[in-house]
Amino acid sequence: MKKLKEIIRLMFPVAAKRFPLFFPLEALKTLCDILMPFIAIFVTPLIVDELVGGKDLTRLFVYAGILILGECLLTVIRQLSVNQLGKYKERLDNYFTRLISEHAMGLDYQLTEDKKLLDQLEKTNTGMSWYSEGVYGISEQIFSFIGNAVKIVGLVTVIALHTPLLLAVILLCVCLNAYLMRLSSKVELKAFERLSKVNRMFGYYGWEMVDFRYGKDIRLYDASGMLLNKWDGFSEESYQGWKWQADTTRKYSLIQGALAVFQTAFTYGYTALKTIGGVFSLGIFTQMVSAAESLFNTLGGIASNITDLLKKTNYAYEYVIFMNYPQAMPKGDKPVQAGEHRIEFRNVSFAYPGTEKKVLDGVNLTVEKGERLSIVGLNGAGKTTLIKLLCRLYDPTDGQILLDGTDIREYDYDQYMKQFSPVFQDFRLFGFTVSENVTLKGRENMDEKDRLRVSDLLKQAGLEKFADKLESGEDAKLFKYMEEDGIEPSGGEQQKMALARALYKDAPVIILDEPTAALDPVAEYEIYKQFNSLIQDKTAFYISHRLSSCRFCDHIAVFSEGRVAEYGTHDELVNIPDGVYAAMFEAQAQYYR
Ligand code: ADP
Repeated sequence: MKKLKEIIRLMFPVAAKRFPLFFPLEALKTLCDILMPFIAIFVTPLIVDELVGGKDLTRLFVYAGILILGECLLTVIRQLSVNQLGKYKERLDNYFTRLISEHAMGLDYQLTEDKKLLDQLEKTNTGMSWYSEGVYGISEQIFSFIGNAVKIVGLVTVIALHTPLLLAVILLCVCLNAYLMRLSSKVELKAFERLSKVNRMFGYYGWEMVDFRYGKDIRLYDASGMLLNKWDGFSEESYQGWKWQADTTRKYSLIQGALAVFQTAFTYGYTALKTIGGVFSLGIFTQMVSAAESLFNTLGGIASNITDLLKKTNYAYEYVIFMNYPQAMPKGDKPVQAGEHRIEFRNVSFAYPGTEKKVLDGVNLTVEKGERLSIVGLNGAGKTTLIKLLCRLYDPTDGQILLDGTDIREYDYDQYMKQFSPVFQDFRLFGFTVSENVTLKGRENMDEKDRLRVSDLLKQAGLEKFADKLESGEDAKLFKYMEEDGIEPSGGEQQKMALARALYKDAPVIILDEPTAALDPVAEYEIYKQFNSLIQDKTAFYISHRLSSCRFCDHIAVFSEGRVAEYGTHDELVNIPDGVYAAMFEAQAQYYR
């Protein structure tokens, strides 16, 4: 009940605001459902008694007219509302999927590696889809419950007026039925828990198999066999889950069937005896039989409303858990000063969540306003991790990062994130148009100024020939897996687009984290040099396992095993005997001399 309350509180107002007609239509459908059986229950006995008694044709026509017209009218109204409601099913589903995605994109980055959260996201998506059908499924059950409850009060009154024993037998059968349904739904819930992980893995492997971006590796490393085997394994595991559910609930379904047969036989036998004994008229006999059948169905209906509602509530509650998933990082509300920034890492140490190893160990480093810092070091030295901490994708385990003298955790998160234009090694472009990838604005939100700027930035990033080649220029769509006429830019071209995106954001701090790793050292040097002139006097971090950017940076920090092993200018470092930098420079000097 508490869960249902929370679901109603969190989901229903949102749904009502977005689709104001949805709930009134549900109410109209329910009203028709309530009235429908009573027309027959009250009018049919009148017709039967008139047929065997008075035989007045006018009265018979009036009764038949009420019966037929009433049922017709209710059926039409009901069908129209059901038809309209059907249209909301898909729309509600899409709307809540959008809310889930919106929330997922806003979660702290470090949670994206949290297995518990990934499981929760999977449970939320499946739980809200066909397992519970979200607001649509739950409100359908609630309205049906209310309708059935009102019907029961009416039917119980009708039957109790004539035969309380029949009422008692029906109630007993229904209680047994409800108990069996509860047992079945417990089994289903257990199966849901069991299947959530398998479904996630299923989705992962299924997606990898058909994703063209993995196409090269799959073919050249002959990975299809392994992927298909994994798929078969999960498929078997999933089948076992479903089989267990079906096998365990079979006995409950059989007993439910037997109960229905017994109840019908008892109703007919008992009321027939009463009619033969002269206690009931033929009209009352038909009324009792149809009221009893209706009551049995309605009580069965309300019992299944309750079990369905309990089940759907448990599934849909995953949405409540997900939407309230605790953030991993504290967030402040201090505004960030406009302009350039001074950044200081003060004794910063860090281990990735769930791991022990210190990837950064007591890092002290200061970058003055407008300074260019080159961070170099072998792969795995901790360079990217330092940037992830600066960009608040993670928080340090120990120590502090200060921006203009204030701990970055105290700043308003959104404002803080606006201070950085990073290009990561594993940047991703979207299956949108070229200009949308640069601006990250929908085409409809871009004005002429934006377009000119994109065109200019693409040129500056070295893509002028690329854009000129395209028939639809900057409006060309990327990637064939999204659009039939999508273009497939080369790795280098994609990197340049990512650089144009960073320039477009125009944040005070620029970070290039080896986005040029796929280029040769000389091309990398050229790009860094050109980029360096484009960013004017902004503060910048250039990260590489090569020394391309060291020549034009104010300082160089050499990282080794999570520490700043050496720090200084190129000329200082190159002269340290047996120094890490000196050794790297010696090995790579051919490119930069
Ligand atoms: P660099 O940028 O210098 O190549 P990184 O900062 O990427 O180095 O990585 C430093 C260390 O942290 C490596 O040992 C790497 O395996 C580990 N590491 C990186 N990302 C994660 C992660 N998400 N979870 C656990 N360990 C990680």
